[in-house]
Amino acid sequence: MADSPALMRYLDPHIHCFSRTTDDYENMYLAGVRAVVEPSFWLGQPRTSAGTFRDYFESIVEFERARAADFGISHRCTIGLNPKESNNEHLAEEVLEMSPEFLARDGVVAAGELGFDEITAAEERALRAQIAMAQERHLPILVHTPHRDKHRGAILLMDILEDMGVDPTSAIIDHSTEETTKAILDRGFWAGHTVYPQTKLTPERFANIFFEFGIERILINTSADWGKSDPLLVVKTVAHLERRGAQRDVLQKLVWDNPIAFFGAERMKLPAEGEPFDPVAANATHSSLRKDFV
Ligand SMILES: [Zn+2]
Repeated sequence: MADSPALMRYLDPHIHCFSRTTDDYENMYLAGVRAVVEPSFWLGQPRTSAGTFRDYFESIVEFERARAADFGISHRCTIGLNPKESNNEHLAEEVLEMSPEFLARDGVVAAGELGFDEITAAEERALRAQIAMAQERHLPILVHTPHRDKHRGAILLMDILEDMGVDPTSAIIDHSTEETTKAILDRGFWAGHTVYPQTKLTPERFANIFFEFGIERILINTSADWGKSDPLLVVKTVAHLERRGAQRDVLQKLVWDNPIAFFGAERMKLPAEGEPFDPVAANATHSSLRKDFV
C-alpha cells in the first residue's frame, strides 16, 4: 500500500501526562497527537491526606492543561478516586466530598478512572458513589478493569453500571483484552484498549482485536504513566495496522472521531484550529514561566 503523506490526527483518550516529560509532549505533537484525556490515577506512593488529592486534581485540571497547550496539544481530564485508594476508607470519604467540585470544572470530561483493584466492598462503595455523581451531572464514566481477575472484574463492573441504570454508551470499560472485548461490546459499552510495550496489549494483539471487531465502540490508548509505557504507542499501533491492510480513513475514525464521540464534542470543546503552537518558540511560552503560575 502506498503511504499517504497526510499526517493523521490523534486523540489519546487515556494518558497520564502528569508523569511524562515535555520531550514526550513535543514528540507526541510531531507524531500527530493533537488532544489527550488524562484520567486521575494512583500516583504510586500512597497518599496520606485528602489535601494531596486536591492539589493533584488541581494540577491536572489547570497546570497540565496549560503545559500541554504550550506544546500544541489540547488537554482534558477526568476526575475520580481510584479503586486502590478507595480501600483507605477515611481518606476515601474526604476525597468523595471534594469530588463534585472538581467534576464541575471546565475541561473535566468524565468521572474516572473508577473500577476495581482487589474487588473489595470498600471499592464497590466508592465506585457506586462516584457513578451516582456522574449520573447527576450527565457525565460519561471511565472504569478500568483490574489487572488480576480481569474477566470477573469486567463482568461485575458492567453488572453494577447496569444495576445503577447507566446508559452503556456513556461508559468505557478500559484495559480490555481478548478476554473481555466481546463481552463488553455485546452489552453495549465502549471497550478501551491499552497498548503497552510488553504487558497489557501489544500492538499485534490489538491488531487481532481490530480485525475481529472493527471500530464501533472501540477505543485505543497508551495509558502512558510512570511505568514502562510509551506515549507514542497508539501512533505506532496505527502504523502497524496500516501495514496489515487497515484503511486509513477507518484508522482516523478510531483514533480521533471515536474518542470525541464518546466524550462529546460539546464537553471536549476542542479549538477548531488546534492549540496555537510554534515548536521553535515553545520554550519562550512555557507555562512555568507565565505569571499566573508564579
Ligand atoms: Zn490509567
